[in-house]
Amino acid sequence: MDYVTLNNGVEMPVLGFGVYQIPAEDTERAVSEALAAGYRLLDTAAAYANEEAVGRAIKSSGVPREDLFVTTKLWVQDAPAEQNARRAFETSLHKLGLDHVDLYLMHQPFGDVYGQWRAMETLHREGLAKAIGVSNFYPDRLVDLIVNNEVTPAVNQVEAHPFFQRADYQELMREHGVRIQSWGGFAEGRNDLFGNALLAGIGEEYGKSVAQVVLRWLTQRGVVAIPKSVRAERMAENLDVFDFRLTEEQMARIATLDTGASLFFDHRDPETVTWLAQRRLEA
Ligand code: NAP
Repeated sequence: MDYVTLNNGVEMPVLGFGVYQIPAEDTERAVSEALAAGYRLLDTAAAYANEEAVGRAIKSSGVPREDLFVTTKLWVQDAPAEQNARRAFETSLHKLGLDHVDLYLMHQPFGDVYGQWRAMETLHREGLAKAIGVSNFYPDRLVDLIVNNEVTPAVNQVEAHPFFQRADYQELMREHGVRIQSWGGFAEGRNDLFGNALLAGIGEEYGKSVAQVVLRWLTQRGVVAIPKSVRAERMAENLDVFDFRLTEEQMARIATLDTGASLFFDHRDPETVTWLAQRRLEA
């Protein structure tokens, strides 16, 4: 496994396991299998409603805590955000059965972002979140947060896959010391990603699948990836991407797949903002 170093010195595996849309009743098994396969970075969120199952799998795995990198996320909080964010964090920590998380992300750039961030800075200073970051922040919101606060986000987790590559944005993040992390690295299979001829052709040259080419392409760019699968054979396949290297020419060909647009939702679209901001989780 390769690691990246975050802006506060914390080491993070460049490839992990995401659990979005894994039903709570399947999550313990899936995470147990992922840990057995060798994953050490787990990505969950309060909004995924499966933190307890992730916690049970961690507990029964026998993997030392210091070998794990656990991420969870704060959902949009009502005011007073500083108090509510701390309560939400404590709920997540309790559900996970942990005494700290490695990365705590603000899930959406909505609500009282500044109050939420101040609470997260405090949790970081207290050692309860070894690193803090954001998710789904577009460039203007990210830079605004950076220039007006003390702690620069260590990570920005954004949609990034062959059809929405975010190369320019990655460069901006790099200039500010923010590590890009991809969600939906396979675009959840949209646009027939797994049947893409260009990606399949490159894979054939190495005896690798489309999924492996995509993960190699992301991690070789320094993008942290967190593919999700409920199938043990795919979990193993998705980890097996460190024994080949794409050439500059292959990277350039993959760059031609970029459409520059989201396949899911644009976080600057008023309808998306309304839809996401109206969602409230039980504390
Ligand atoms: P994804 O990883 O792009 O795609 C998952 C899909 O790919 C599933 O349908 C899975 O099916 C399939 N798959 C996995 N490995 C495969 C393989 N080797 N061959 C063929 N199909 C394969 O989608 P995602 O779950 O949306 O994104 C990954 C993670 O990012 C999430 O789990 C979550 O942790 C995070 N995320 C964050 C946000 C955010 O707002 N911050 C949003 C979305 C996701 P099977 O399960 O049946 O194998």
